[in-house]
Amino acid sequence: MGNLRFDALRQAMAHTPVAVAPIGDKVKDFFARDVFTRDRMKEYIAADVLEQLFDDVDSGRTIHREIADSVAIGMRKWAMDHGATHYTHWFQPLTGGTAEKHDAFFTLNKDGVLMEEFTGDALYQQEPDASSFPNGGIRNTFEARGYSAWDPSSPVFLIGDTLCIPTVFVAYTGEALDYKTPLIRSTAALCRAAREVCQYFDKGVKHVHANLGWEQEYFLVDEALYHARPDLMLTGRTLMGHASAKNQQLEDHYFGAIPERVLAFMRDLENEALCAGIPVRTRHNEVAPNQFEMAPVFEDVNLANDHNLLVMSIMDRVAQRHHFRVLLHEKPYAGVNGSGKHCNWSLQTNTGINLLAPGKNPYQNLQFVTFLVNVLMAVHQYNGLLKASIASATNEHRLGANEAPPAIISVFLGKQISEVLDKLEHATAEEAIIINAKKEMKLGVANIPEILVDNTDRNRTSPFAFTGNRFEFRAVGSSANCGAAMLALNAAVAEQLLNFKTEVDKLMEKGEPKERALFAVIRKYIVSCKAIRFDGNGYSEEWKAEAARRGLDCETNVPLIFDRYLLPEVVNMFHKTGVLTEAELHSRCEVKWETYSKKVQIESRVMGDLVINHVLPAAKRYQTMLLQNVLAVKQVFSADETATLNEQDYTIIRQIESHAGAILAGVDKMTDARHKANRQPDERSKAIAYHDTVLPVMAEIREHVDALEMVVDDELWTLPKYRELMFVH
Ligand code: ADP
Ligand code: MG
Repeated sequence: MGNLRFDALRQAMAHTPVAVAPIGDKVKDFFARDVFTRDRMKEYIAADVLEQLFDDVDSGRTIHREIADSVAIGMRKWAMDHGATHYTHWFQPLTGGTAEKHDAFFTLNKDGVLMEEFTGDALYQQEPDASSFPNGGIRNTFEARGYSAWDPSSPVFLIGDTLCIPTVFVAYTGEALDYKTPLIRSTAALCRAAREVCQYFDKGVKHVHANLGWEQEYFLVDEALYHARPDLMLTGRTLMGHASAKNQQLEDHYFGAIPERVLAFMRDLENEALCAGIPVRTRHNEVAPNQFEMAPVFEDVNLANDHNLLVMSIMDRVAQRHHFRVLLHEKPYAGVNGSGKHCNWSLQTNTGINLLAPGKNPYQNLQFVTFLVNVLMAVHQYNGLLKASIASATNEHRLGANEAPPAIISVFLGKQISEVLDKLEHATAEEAIIINAKKEMKLGVANIPEILVDNTDRNRTSPFAFTGNRFEFRAVGSSANCGAAMLALNAAVAEQLLNFKTEVDKLMEKGEPKERALFAVIRKYIVSCKAIRFDGNGYSEEWKAEAARRGLDCETNVPLIFDRYLLPEVVNMFHKTGVLTEAELHSRCEVKWETYSKKVQIESRVMGDLVINHVLPAAKRYQTMLLQNVLAVKQVFSADETATLNEQDYTIIRQIESHAGAILAGVDKMTDARHKANRQPDERSKAIAYHDTVLPVMAEIREHVDALEMVVDDELWTLPKYRELMFVH
């Protein structure tokens, strides 16, 4: 009889690097090869149509049907010239990931003759049979069907023979059923508010936009080993597995040389990503064995988010060519680092100024401090919401697990910026703002150090860190749609900027000069949001106590964290900024609770199957071998000798008996807890029950399984072990 695990190992060791053919000499020759870029549009679409289209897109206006018709014709021609036969609306349902429904580029006319066709209507709007997408109750009525609609601000692209059209996904009644719709609304709100505030400093600012640079972390695992681990296949993480004797203690993987087989995968992945117009630039090993990271150059937040979702699906596909599987789960292995998706976020004006970078003159610096402090205010007021925006059944295992951002949101500023704010806080207006005879302004106490970029301390324990010219939201999970976090941040900052403007204007109406009015409000803010600033060790126990004293949100129970979406001030903020209505917030929470319960339910079932079908049979087989040995010893040796000779066997036999008994009892308890949870009257109580009563039993069972792994004969163990999953490449 073969051992599943050894068969898988043999197969894994036989995999060699797959040769990757270069697709061009220089990146610029194939970058965005599969994208209908603005330049390419010029070859396929009339100039006046394009002028109107670009103008509408850049100013956020709706596209006219006639324009859409002309664009659709050009789009189809380009796509078919490049081998496309189908098109799809590509959208981001609340399940996470992306969804698509493919249609061919033809219809039959009334005489039954096949016509190649792709109309403006088909580009504009599609009605996916969306009843199976989660909607949290919004689409329960017959009228509330869902449709997907073209997002002209993100370019269409080809994947194989299919033209992919980025779209929003909304109900007929207008409610958003996806992540893209509110993300677009939130950037619009933020950019309007930021532009208004910019007018204090520069009347030339016409547009502000938000940037996102994501860093995607992931694990690779050999496909043969993956297939021998049903938990990885079905849940994306290992539900059991004893720690490997060596894992990341030596920190020899981080920034180490990339293994050849992995490098081949990365090259292939990067080539595909570059062809799709995703400007990937950085690749390196991460802290845990077989963990890696890729990052592109930052882009507009909506486009960057599309690109991240696209990369996640490209990764999956390319990995299979290399006999790997990509694990995007936040915590595939207990005891080693999990994966995040740091979201680098900044604001930029059409005049080329990064509003979160210290400037070249006093006005720009005052502007920088203004935006910095407003972000602090927003993060302070909505720290609970921001946590909810990154919370999930999967990220739950990573957060607060001692090597990831803690489950408390705080902001790291670094020594220099902290000093600037401290000085401003204690300065008088005269000290802070010096206006000389020539009416030039100087910032007296707030001389911002010139070179801050790359000069800020690298505090890895902070969930939200200022890194010189941007904020890095690190708590976001590796499998998440960044849109959830970005739209919460955008909306919170948008509302905050509106409040700021109201306060400054009020002072100016009372006759305060502009600089003094700005300074007065900034100083008030510096004082009132101090609690959110924390530069110390976010992993420490002291910080948890300190954060609670400061009144920060310290809830760690994920289903309860989702409640933050429904706090009155949060509902009000989303309403005021026009990002999400109360009904949409309720429906989102329903989906989040439902998804949470389903994920834990699946994990718990898989765990039950695995222990009954793999772990216990292996343990029992080994126990039987030991029992037979005991009997054999008795036959051969004298009674005195038998007692000592069998001592060790007895110990192991009893250990197996005790762990196996505990596992069986645990499985009963877990099944029972699941049944009780399923009977809860609503999604929220169900999720809470799964969290409070099912997860803890799973942890208990796991302890016994991992202990068995240590005693049972290696040859009988059927599941690939941690040392194999993490070190074979
Ligand atoms: P690190 O690991 O040191 O944080 P990386 O080089 O891995 O840095 O990734 C940094 C990410 O931040 C990249 O996506 C980069 O494009 C992005 N980034 C750099 N400057 C900005 C900015 N001003 N706004 C938004 N993102 C930025
Ligand atoms: Mg980083």
